[in-house]
Amino acid sequence: ALMLDVDAIRAQFPILGRELHDGKPLVYLDNAATTQTPEPVLEAWNDYFRRYNANIHRGLHTLADEATAAFEQARDTVREFLNAARVEEIIFTRGTTEAINLVANTWGRANLREGDEVMISAMEHHSNIVPWQMLATSLGITVKVIPVDQRGVLDMQAYQALFTERTRLVAVTHVSNALGTINPIREMADIAHDHGALILVDGAQAVAHARVDVTEMDVDFYAFSGHKIYGPTGIGALYGRYELLDAMPPWQGGGEMISRVSFDDGTTFAAPPHKFEAGTPAIAEAVALDRAIRWLTSLHFDLVSDWEQRLLTHATERMQSIDGLSIIGQAPEKCGVISFVVEGAHSQDIGLLIDQFGVAIRTGHHCAQPLLRSFGLDATCRASFGVYNTLEEVDAFVDALERVLAMVR
Ligand code: PMP
Repeated sequence: ALMLDVDAIRAQFPILGRELHDGKPLVYLDNAATTQTPEPVLEAWNDYFRRYNANIHRGLHTLADEATAAFEQARDTVREFLNAARVEEIIFTRGTTEAINLVANTWGRANLREGDEVMISAMEHHSNIVPWQMLATSLGITVKVIPVDQRGVLDMQAYQALFTERTRLVAVTHVSNALGTINPIREMADIAHDHGALILVDGAQAVAHARVDVTEMDVDFYAFSGHKIYGPTGIGALYGRYELLDAMPPWQGGGEMISRVSFDDGTTFAAPPHKFEAGTPAIAEAVALDRAIRWLTSLHFDLVSDWEQRLLTHATERMQSIDGLSIIGQAPEKCGVISFVVEGAHSQDIGLLIDQFGVAIRTGHHCAQPLLRSFGLDATCRASFGVYNTLEEVDAFVDALERVLAMVR
């Protein structure tokens, strides 16, 4: 069978060669927070500044043309990556957070009235909670919450029952960053549309791990961040259905987003996507994101998903044999994320001590405080896998965890 050549993949990531604390090889298991960057992406970034750094969309000189072409090519790479119908449906943002805030502040302010309802889920990242709460404060809308069961799975019956004739939008994560749960987006989109509501999906944790198809899932908005798919920070994208984007007012005003500016007869705005991209964008980051997407998709998503599932299964099996360890979130459909707590050991202590073994995991609330609270917790440890992790690294992590637990318990 076709397999990922994980050694060849690892060789492309200079950072994975680091050793910490007297020669301990870095075991990087914090991929849900941010992924590392392979050579081709670093090169794309470098090449931009070495050869064609220029501001886009206005100069007529050669460098400006080349930079503009590369930036717009990146937009088309994102379009193809998400299988959106039109390149105008892709807006570059700083990341998932800014994409969701853009929808809240443009579509939301234009379309929501006091008493309207936005439905989110109990497993949202704060970036898909707080923008809606801010709208609730300023517009008087209501934010309703789809509950999560003890396995970390959304309660689909409760979801259906929460709709009223005032439900305008469902804003839900594709994959939970704290639990790994994969949500049934196509089904949720159908249900939302049956009730006359739109659906926005937070794809921050999904895009690196499985093929995402916004057309097939029939979603209205989809957001993701470059730094979680082996690309740089400071760039991400929002997909929005063209008719929606076209009808939405702009958010930030400035250069690049206008059609004509005058003091006398008002200002008119450019068409999407430029209407939503005021100011000089993150050009180098877009170019590097383009390269990251092409790098990742060249690996074949089936192989990526299979490999990450093997890492997940192996880690889960080994961790289940540790006395007093509970894995939080055991959804049947799960990405390579393991949140856990251990009786008699503080998550913070585990995170700090395991770092001494060269192992990087996350500890804390993972920007999902309401979710953790629903499990009666305020922190967990989280190991999350990327395409370059190995079974040996999983073993090194669990061995280190056992030694840490022997120290603290
Ligand atoms: N949603 C989810 C599910 C996430 O995991 C993250 C990043 N931790 C975000 C949103 C926010 O992404 P960013 O910080 O890149 O805007």
